[in-house]
Amino acid sequence: MLPTGAIEAHGPHLPLGTDVIIAEAMARAGADRLAARGFHVLLLPALTMAPAPFAAAFAGTVDTPAAATTLTVIGVVRSLAAHGISVTAIANAHHDPAHVEALRRAVTDVAASDANAIVVFPDLTRRRFAERLSSEFRSGACHAGRYEGSIVLAERPDLVRTDVMAGLAPNPQSLVEAIRSQQTTFVAAGGPEAYFGFPAEATADEGRAIVETLGAILEEAVVEAMASTWRPASAGPSETR
Ligand SMILES: [Zn+2]
Repeated sequence: MLPTGAIEAHGPHLPLGTDVIIAEAMARAGADRLAARGFHVLLLPALTMAPAPFAAAFAGTVDTPAAATTLTVIGVVRSLAAHGISVTAIANAHHDPAHVEALRRAVTDVAASDANAIVVFPDLTRRRFAERLSSEFRSGACHAGRYEGSIVLAERPDLVRTDVMAGLAPNPQSLVEAIRSQQTTFVAAGGPEAYFGFPAEATADEGRAIVETLGAILEEAVVEAMASTWRPASAGPSETR
């Protein structure tokens, strides 16, 4: 499991490491579910540096080259495969298009060049997965809002400025629509304070439920990829499920 996040501004109320916290929670939840099925799962530390051009103008954001992410992921996958760990699952919580594209490129490159390695990347921006998440997530008004705020409240409440969060006005501007209309920054997308959605509505209970869903998505993606492309030497596909 490779969690991937970012160091990125998340409004005046959530920590810069929000996406790292969410990615690690997703990876842990997915790993727990796969372990319960009998898989031997290894959790890597998160990849914390990422391209983050949408938030780059906000203090605290660390925006690194997309190519660096692609090459790092490819290197991680190849290193693991060389030691017999043939499946790497990416638990990604940073949905800046530059980052998602960098991860997709790594997946494509490995598929084209590495017969012994599989990268599983359930891309939450795809409709198939987004449908299982909250209406705020699907609307695209989902940066430092109710969805992300809920998960951080569940995972690291000590890092949330709850008094500030409670007073934030809704910002229903959709990042998905802004991206479609060629916007490239949070400010241009209608988020002058680097948040979108409904942060004041976040709850820890909802965060715990979302983490379970994220874990289930990861679990299913791994099982599906292994069933379709890989067979363990000692067990048939029915046993691996
Ligand atoms: Zn985020």
